Amino acid sequence: MIYFKNGEFLEEQQMNLSVNDRGYAFGDGVYEVIKVYDGVLYTAQEHLERLIESAEKIRMPLPYTIEQLTNIAQKLLTENQLSVGHIYLQVTRGVAPRAHQFPESDIPPVIIGYTVVNPRPVEHLKMGTAMKSVEDMRWLRCDIKSLNLLGNVLAKQEAIEHSCQEALFVRDGLVREGSASNVFGIKDGILHTHPANNFILNGITRRVVLQIAKDLAIPVVEKEFTLAEALAMDEFFFTSTNAEITPVITIDGKQIGEGVPGPLTRKLQSAFDGQIPMLVSAGNAKERESNGTAS
Ligand code: PMP
Repeated sequence: MIYFKNGEFLEEQQMNLSVNDRGYAFGDGVYEVIKVYDGVLYTAQEHLERLIESAEKIRMPLPYTIEQLTNIAQKLLTENQLSVGHIYLQVTRGVAPRAHQFPESDIPPVIIGYTVVNPRPVEHLKMGTAMKSVEDMRWLRCDIKSLNLLGNVLAKQEAIEHSCQEALFVRDGLVREGSASNVFGIKDGILHTHPANNFILNGITRRVVLQIAKDLAIPVVEKEFTLAEALAMDEFFFTSTNAEITPVITIDGKQIGEGVPGPLTRKLQSAFDGQIPMLVSAGNAKERESNGTAS
């Protein structure tokens, strides 16, 4: 596998990362995960714009343009012959003796990248999943895609220990997002989701779903809702780069709607598939629409 580090494409044993990297010591950095379908980058521009925004929000200059970052991602996927999976990119504030404040002199950030083979989660897309509500103990800048993920790690672990695939963060009684995803509910034909503010990461998949809803003339309400309201939704799903549109059939063991992925969720999944070139060319999207499955 070929890795990227600060301008160079290297083998793993050449990576040589420092214990004094501020990412390692403090989680002082930002990251992105970009999906690759059939060897083609998906929504890379949006992910790289968000990487630059996240870096700005933590006052970390990023000496790369979107074009340069796209080239790095492209070369990584070509070198590693990635077909379906993702590219991980991470930027930290650099290497300096451990002290909380920013280093006094300008030090270059450390940017690394690699590829991960990751097939589509076909079983979950088709059958639906379970979520567990968890108190949101994270900081108040969840809009930044920061390396600090301890709150997310603990929440996900708790969900898994309860045989659920994903955690559902609740703060001040309001449903926020998943541990690594955004969430949507459908009630009486209306799509509900949390507004894009500091309490959630404005997911790229979230934006794709909102665009699809607009195209399909599905009404959308971007407003917080309670856990009780979530449980009373007709349909529920979470979205992320790797999870795509994953139906949720139970929350805290309680059935959502009919307890199976609902018709509007299926419609959104079909439209999502329809804009992925790989699936369109394979003729899968049409087929999926007709038989109601997302595998
Ligand atoms: N919220 C959180 C906390 C996440 O970690 C993720 C995954 N990056 C998302 C939402 C979904 O974002 P995206 O659709 O860009 O993957």
